[in-house]
Amino acid sequence: MNLVIVVPCYNEEEVLPETSRQLHVIIEELRLARKITAGRILYVDDGSRDKTWSLIESLSTEYPEISGLKLAHNVGHQQALWAGMEWAAVHADAIVSIDADLQDDVRAIISMVDDYHRGMDIVYGVRKERNKDTLFKKYTALFFYRFMQFLGGDIVYNHADFRLMSQRALQALMSFPERNLFLRGLVCSLGFPSSIVYYDRQERFAGESKYPFSKMLSFALDGITSFSVKPLRYIVVLGILFILVSLAVIIYGVIIYMDGKAIQGWTSLLVSIWFIGGCILTSIGIIGEYVGKLYKEVKRRPRYFIEKEVNLF
Ligand code: UDP
Ligand code: MG
Repeated sequence: MNLVIVVPCYNEEEVLPETSRQLHVIIEELRLARKITAGRILYVDDGSRDKTWSLIESLSTEYPEISGLKLAHNVGHQQALWAGMEWAAVHADAIVSIDADLQDDVRAIISMVDDYHRGMDIVYGVRKERNKDTLFKKYTALFFYRFMQFLGGDIVYNHADFRLMSQRALQALMSFPERNLFLRGLVCSLGFPSSIVYYDRQERFAGESKYPFSKMLSFALDGITSFSVKPLRYIVVLGILFILVSLAVIIYGVIIYMDGKAIQGWTSLLVSIWFIGGCILTSIGIIGEYVGKLYKEVKRRPRYFIEKEVNLF
């Protein structure tokens, strides 16, 4: 079995040497145990601005199993991962996708490979706890997973993009044409035999998170809107509710008017104008999200461009 470990990297010069060392150890261990015949590490440099690429080049001379793809500009974690997987889908019997920062436990890869040999096509890496995450990240993530589940998105709780995929699962995934990628949702919808490997999430080995709040929010919005159209339905329900409420308000207003105390309603009027205004704006915004998505899909733009490669076979 030929294993490729795909690692998207964006400004990760501080962690790459250590990541390479640890992944190298894992690959050696797997090879010696005859669980794999060959193992490769594929770094996808997602348009980094630091020395990430030159580091990948020098690491690839130090470790023969390291290959690198350099994307021409920053396309984001999901697309970068896609780029690596697209390449690996041709060459690998299975791939493992993992972040560069060593937050995911590399030792879990061994259990993933074991599960692969037991016939699993997809093995999800799931975090046991989020002790090492900030409270803020913990709760926003919890809310996000719950909300996705509520919307009918079939996603594995506390699973990020640390997973093993067999070649056939990978090729099934590659047949999805959409440009708006929310991989952890797509993968769950494939439906091949799958299992879960639990691990402890570590703190970032070095450097800062490449997901500031703004990116996290846009990732969450993308996830929701590329996965579910239910928010559109809720807008309609909300609209009908408002019409019912406003009917009641109209009746109330007429009664007040007949009583000759019409001026009294000023406060409630003010409040409802603002409230309804806000709801309308939000609804238009949600529709806009979907329209924007359609626009992006319809253009069928290429996902990424490869600028350079090193040690690819
Ligand atoms: N990443 C990427 N492109 C980006 C942002 C991030 O390829 O535009 C990579 C990053 O190098 C890392 C992974 O995606 O390997 C996850 O990012 P990070 O660890 O910063 O996210 P967090 O763990 O804080 O959610
Ligand atoms: Mg991280």
